[in-house]
Amino acid sequence: MKIDILTLFPNMFKGPFDESIVKRAIEKKKVEIKIHNLRKWTKDKYKTVDDRPFGGGVGMIFKVEPIYRALKNLRKKSKISNIQTSKQIKKLKTKKNSSTINHQSSVILLSPQGKPFKQKTAKRLSKIDHLILICGHYEGFDERIKKHLIDEEISIGDYVLTGGEIPAMALADSITRLIPDVLKKPEAVENESFSNGQWSMVNGQMLEFPQYTRPANFKGWKVPEILLSGNHKKIKEWRKKKALEKTKKRRPDLIKNLKPGT
Ligand code: SAH
Repeated sequence: MKIDILTLFPNMFKGPFDESIVKRAIEKKKVEIKIHNLRKWTKDKYKTVDDRPFGGGVGMIFKVEPIYRALKNLRKKSKISNIQTSKQIKKLKTKKNSSTINHQSSVILLSPQGKPFKQKTAKRLSKIDHLILICGHYEGFDERIKKHLIDEEISIGDYVLTGGEIPAMALADSITRLIPDVLKKPEAVENESFSNGQWSMVNGQMLEFPQYTRPANFKGWKVPEILLSGNHKKIKEWRKKKALEKTKKRRPDLIKNLKPGT
């Protein structure tokens, strides 16, 4: 998978992809993450990427042209030729026998107005060959970028950050760990919060059950007996019960969506 990130502040990305699991995924060539300065696609002397809003108001708005040029260029590199907008791509994708499209590519704009980012979004995106993430800053984007140039708008939560850089890092990180062979134990992503691979009786999302490690007793704070019993069936039942209890208490919204499994 390739992830291209468009930003005005490339230096913000120093660090997060240089450690641990994501670093190893890059080294193993499971993912390629490229950071691009949007100013590269400006044509004027001052490398202007934003301007004041029509109709007045505070702050600066991202202009259409640099993003248009950046996407045209990055898509060309990903072997989708002669295509300028995501709408054109969609049109081509629906045409059968189209030889131009042999590569899946998706353009995502980070925005507090977007669809909330969920584990299931990360799963869906981890199957796409090429992602282009656009980080906003200041007041936001010219609406025409959203209308004509992107595939989806994603928010990482109901709060406003100074820019889309931290959201882009969050997406790239959570997507990368779902790419096959990135995590050493694939079952780790099946049984964690918001996934419920091990609970055959329910479909939906739950928070993870409580976990403990050595020592079994620290200053009188004891690990639940059952986990030391070696009885795997009982341990599984206990974990499911605890996961349900915790989800009910903290995220009743998730419980509402649980369905009996098959
Ligand atoms: N005026 C805008 C907010 C601009 S914040 C509004 O009211 O909607 C500046 C940029 O930070 C945004 O363009 C976006 O790229 C990023 N950003 C801020 N909060 C975000 C969030 N919760 N999720 C994703 N991106 C966010």
